[in-house]
Amino acid sequence: MVQTYSMHELSIASSIVETVTESAAAYPGARVKEVRLRVGALASVVEDSLQFCWELAREGSPLAGSKLVINILPVIVHCDACGRDSELTGVQSFRCLHCGEIAADLRQGRELEIESIELEDPEPAKDEPENVKEQA
Ligand SMILES: [Zn+2]
Repeated sequence: MVQTYSMHELSIASSIVETVTESAAAYPGARVKEVRLRVGALASVVEDSLQFCWELAREGSPLAGSKLVINILPVIVHCDACGRDSELTGVQSFRCLHCGEIAADLRQGRELEIESIELEDPEPAKDEPENVKEQA
């Protein structure tokens, strides 16, 4: 199987790495452990592809070895006819699940944002006991 990726995901991954690198600069020597993203189902991001591009983009940065957690947000539309929100399972039909009217007022689904950044704890001091992990 050949892993493919598009410039789209690569540029997204690079831009996230850049943003996180800037944020982490406030903590000299810190390494990034995990980055969590909120991605709307309509954001045109292929999760596998973004994960693959992440591995390319993070090399040589404080994010090398970090994990990318992608939280896909469902599409939510608001219906003007009945005033209720619907969580759409597919994006083929923008219809209210409650009354069947066309609901085009998009409330969620296009997000592409960093939810949180987790930094690795600083290196433990050298005189710290190393046998703590032996506790069962
Ligand atoms: Zn409705």
